[in-house]
Amino acid sequence: MPLLTFKKGGIYCAQADVYIDPWSKVDRAIITHAHSDHARWGHQHYLCTSNCEAPLKHRLGNISVQSMPFREEVVMNGVRISFHPAGHIIGSAQVRVEYQGEVWVVSGDYKLVDDGFATPFESVKCHHFVTESTFGLPVYTWADQQQIFDEINTWWAANRANGKVSIIAAYSLGKAQRLIQNVDHSIGPVFTHGAVENMNAALRAAHHDIQPTIQVTKELDKKSYKGGLVIAPGSALGSSWVNKFKPFSLAYASGWMALRGTRRRRAADRGFALSDHADWDGLNTAIAATGAENIYVTHGYSTLFSNWLKEQGLNAAPVETQYVGESIDVAEEEVAI
Ligand SMILES: [Zn+2]
Ligand SMILES: [Zn+2]
Repeated sequence: MPLLTFKKGGIYCAQADVYIDPWSKVDRAIITHAHSDHARWGHQHYLCTSNCEAPLKHRLGNISVQSMPFREEVVMNGVRISFHPAGHIIGSAQVRVEYQGEVWVVSGDYKLVDDGFATPFESVKCHHFVTESTFGLPVYTWADQQQIFDEINTWWAANRANGKVSIIAAYSLGKAQRLIQNVDHSIGPVFTHGAVENMNAALRAAHHDIQPTIQVTKELDKKSYKGGLVIAPGSALGSSWVNKFKPFSLAYASGWMALRGTRRRRAADRGFALSDHADWDGLNTAIAATGAENIYVTHGYSTLFSNWLKEQGLNAAPVETQYVGESIDVAEEEVAI
């Protein structure tokens, strides 16, 4: 029996009797990161990285969780398990599982770019690699992130000059902090939706430095938003919540903005192709660096991407999971749990 198997409820290690990012309720769950399609409610015990603990508890409330730093090892019935940085969001990890010389790595979600907040991705050698493929098509090639932040700053400054509020849609965990840490705060104040600010508070309480932000509240006068940048989850933007910012310019920050037409369909003024997932080159680079011959491809273009890997001479197969990848309408964080 292989060390890891793909069961109906999730990725399972029988020897250690533990699941990785399961979607069914289980006794023991190893969690790659706190996005809700990977970290679901209802398990008896959770194991995650030290930096994942605060956002995980913020999401799931009073759970039984054990955390450990990157590269530290825990042994379960002879199986050595450790976390290695995935670079996707704060606390996100690849899970390395080793038994009798056989090594598997489950990537969770990952990106190779250092975003200035998440611990940067580190490649781990293995025989079997479970990879995501959210953006596993050659059309997805991210521009240098500094170039994207320059574009965001330019858009914000222009809106400010025109008396408009800038609103940018972003996940409350991950993308929001990446934006807050990288935009130019000298342009104006940065405001946050309550969902973003609550996550910021949980992270700040866990000693993660985040640049200053001001929560949008009823008490704030409409005038105070003038020239500001508002960061809010996409789900808030379809509601009357945005009316208090009029006149405003609306933007989305998502890998899907690389596709023409997405922005138009979202009725956004701007789209910034900023993703916390690896692009085509990133996926291929990461997979090659593992040295693995066996690749299992999860959420995204799993069939197309595994066919591509097979053409490259690898043993690759798509794997069915319930992970949702990066979505504009139903964000990773907003999946029903
Ligand atoms: Zn994720
Ligand atoms: Zn995912």
